[in-house]
Amino acid sequence: MNEKEQEDLPLLRVRNLRKFFPIKRGLFSHTVGHVRAVDGVSFDLQKGETLGLVGESGCGKTTAGRTLLKLLPPTGGEVLFQGQPVFELGSEGLRLLRQKMQIIFQDPYSSLNPRMTIAQIVGEALLVHKLVANAKEAKERVCQLLERVGLSAQYVNRYPHEFSGGQRQRIGIARALAMEPEFIVCDEAVSALDVSVQAQIINLLMDLQEEMGLSYLFIAHDLSVVRHISNRIAVMYLGRIVETAEAEDLFAHPSHPYTKALLSAIPIPDPDKRPQRTLLEGDVPTPIHPPSGCHFHPRCPEVMEKCRIDAPPDFDLGKGHCARCWLFEGEAPLAADQWTRMEEV
Ligand code: SF4
Repeated sequence: MNEKEQEDLPLLRVRNLRKFFPIKRGLFSHTVGHVRAVDGVSFDLQKGETLGLVGESGCGKTTAGRTLLKLLPPTGGEVLFQGQPVFELGSEGLRLLRQKMQIIFQDPYSSLNPRMTIAQIVGEALLVHKLVANAKEAKERVCQLLERVGLSAQYVNRYPHEFSGGQRQRIGIARALAMEPEFIVCDEAVSALDVSVQAQIINLLMDLQEEMGLSYLFIAHDLSVVRHISNRIAVMYLGRIVETAEAEDLFAHPSHPYTKALLSAIPIPDPDKRPQRTLLEGDVPTPIHPPSGCHFHPRCPEVMEKCRIDAPPDFDLGKGHCARCWLFEGEAPLAADQWTRMEEV
């Protein structure tokens, strides 16, 4: 790839990402099937952009986030970060790249080692990656980071159990920021917090993004949570992205029947503005034996005969809005290089 082609690439390009978990049985642990957790996910992320990735629990969004960082070994697909193929990097290349690609986990209670002080938790990576010369410098940098995420530097010698859930998530953010990353996967980062604390953490993440030009993949199961922070939103169902659009466009003009059902379940106080509730029948099918054709067909209120047989491609609805649904068969299928629609953020 020449320099010009590299410059034209988005910060992150994900193509046909797949992650299947083998199901083993018997004395010799034979593989008898696979859980198809992520089954052909593609998207682009521009510098300074936030892509919200939403879907019900078990749809594969967390697995997708971890696989693209290579925290889980991928089954297939390609991930380019600043033009570098993440899955082809050796351990040294991956170590350098990991500095730029960080993750904030859902559970601030279990993601911080209870036996380590905040200075050790946040400072450890600074020393390992040689971003500071010694322990004294590491502690000074940790104090700066704590203040940057809204905590007092006096907390530096305290242990995780001495903090509230919101404060622990701020420590998780400080730990991610220590590496001076360019891209952060926020994996259900606010889902375990009270609504008022959620808003504070989302505002902090947005402030940091503006200040540092960060890009986020913001994973959540609640559409109303991702609306405020996301430039674009991708909706996932059973291992696949079924609809992608600019955040406001998705809320104003949801196209895929699954997105419509998710949106209709969001509580709206004003009865005049409430959309008609779409009740989905049945449970999410197992990703071990996903339904034929469109994965959503057993629950879809608009199912047609064709949906049971053929899997729909992504149809281009214009302005970066695309939906994987046969209802839009008259529209042009999305070409492989058409994922980048976001103008400069
Ligand atoms: Fe429903 Fe068919 Fe569209 Fe799938 S392709 S979402 S079953 S209308």
